[in-house]
Amino acid sequence: MAAGAEGSAPVSRTAPRLGQIVAGALPLAATPVVVLGGMALFDLADPVAALIGAAASAVVAMIVVRPILRNLSSARRYSQLLARDTATDPPRLDAGSGADDLQELLRQVHDLLAARDKRIDDLAAEAGRILDALPDPILMVARNGHIVRTNRTGRELFGHDVVGRDLAAVTRDPAFLAAADAARDRGESSDVELTILAGRVPHSFGASVAPLPVRGNGGPAVMAVFHDLTAMKRTEQMRVDFVANASHEIRSPLATLVGCIETLRGPARDDEGAWDDFLEMMDDQGKRMTRLVGDLLSLSRIELNEHTRPTGEVDVTDVLARTQTALEWEATAKDMVVRSTLDSPLPTVRGDAAEIEQVAYNLLSNAIKYGRAGTEVTVTAGHRPAPPERARMERIPVVWFTVRDRGDGIASEHLPRLTERFYRVDTARSRELGGTGLGLAIVKHILNRHRGDLTIDSTVGDGSTFTVYLPAADG
Ligand code: ADP
Repeated sequence: MAAGAEGSAPVSRTAPRLGQIVAGALPLAATPVVVLGGMALFDLADPVAALIGAAASAVVAMIVVRPILRNLSSARRYSQLLARDTATDPPRLDAGSGADDLQELLRQVHDLLAARDKRIDDLAAEAGRILDALPDPILMVARNGHIVRTNRTGRELFGHDVVGRDLAAVTRDPAFLAAADAARDRGESSDVELTILAGRVPHSFGASVAPLPVRGNGGPAVMAVFHDLTAMKRTEQMRVDFVANASHEIRSPLATLVGCIETLRGPARDDEGAWDDFLEMMDDQGKRMTRLVGDLLSLSRIELNEHTRPTGEVDVTDVLARTQTALEWEATAKDMVVRSTLDSPLPTVRGDAAEIEQVAYNLLSNAIKYGRAGTEVTVTAGHRPAPPERARMERIPVVWFTVRDRGDGIASEHLPRLTERFYRVDTARSRELGGTGLGLAIVKHILNRHRGDLTIDSTVGDGSTFTVYLPAADG
């Protein structure tokens, strides 16, 4: 409660006016004056002595009445100050009033009221702090539709000047405004979904709207609590897309297999020359499905463990050597050479050897797949402070390796999406080369689990460089 400027002013005991004193003293002085006047009239007393006696009675009455009137006027002024609730210090009576008891009583009443006001202020501040600590934005709305209270996240979402504004100026969503009206007018609680611009970006929010018991006219009548559903909706959409993509990827080889079987049973039943072609096609499609199912299983296994950091120690030099050996045949089949330049010795990294090997395998097999026949694939490895230095992991010791190919390269608009599941620059080419569209998604999830990073640089017509960063084991 704000302290008024006049709160600590003493209560001046304004002297009662002469008229007030005379009026107050009149009942007291009346009896002796009338008695003395009667005695003078009936010659029972000397008129001069009676006049002096009456005057003396009046003066004595006035002397008695004056301080009583002064204290009454102080008490009245004091009660006016309390009623205005602005006092921080108790009003003071002037010294020398002889009214110590009254002063003490006034002080006790004042202290009680001041303690009550402080308690109310403390409770209001505590309620504000609790609201601010809540992670979801909150709006409280009065009966007239004005916002009367919010919290920290509410101010961040709706603006720092949101208190005092009309609810309809904050959002025009009809379902939300109807829910607020229903809470206010009929005491109904409801949940609605609405879109709110958060920094010019539309976000999906769920809002729980509920009535509040109204104490005063301007007090909150409706409370709305908002929860951001954007991330949940995005995840849900990704799940739906993933199921649709995975079914589509499995359906096409299955359709080819079924078609081959029908042809072999039907028109090509007796065409022995066609049997070999169809069997080869079936073999291809069967292997494609096997790769797809294998990659899907790897992805789900890695995602399952993504939040548990691996604890093993891995020698990247060994991993790269094993991967190179495993893919030697593919490289030779395309007349390609894999050349390695590795810093020696490399620090070990904290990780899962099989998963890091899968990262190296996916990148090297892509380089062979998408590199031009007869060209060279270069594998380099090192550790900080050697370049390149583009990863997010700026301050910790890292081991990095790069796989560089001489292929057609990738246009820059595709680069940010390459690690999405089933994202391909050229779907037909990827399928023709035996790709599943999951290799880089697997790489990304493994690196997430290892708190590592991947950067991709590519020049159309020249080739691509994929760089992996892994935290060193002693980092
Ligand atoms: P895929 O099984 O199709 O190769 P990936 O997830 O490994 O799937 O790669 C996704 C897409 O990224 C590929 O379809 C391809 O278009 C592109 N890509 C990946 N690596 C390279 C590369 N070294 N050169 C050119 N394009 C590449």
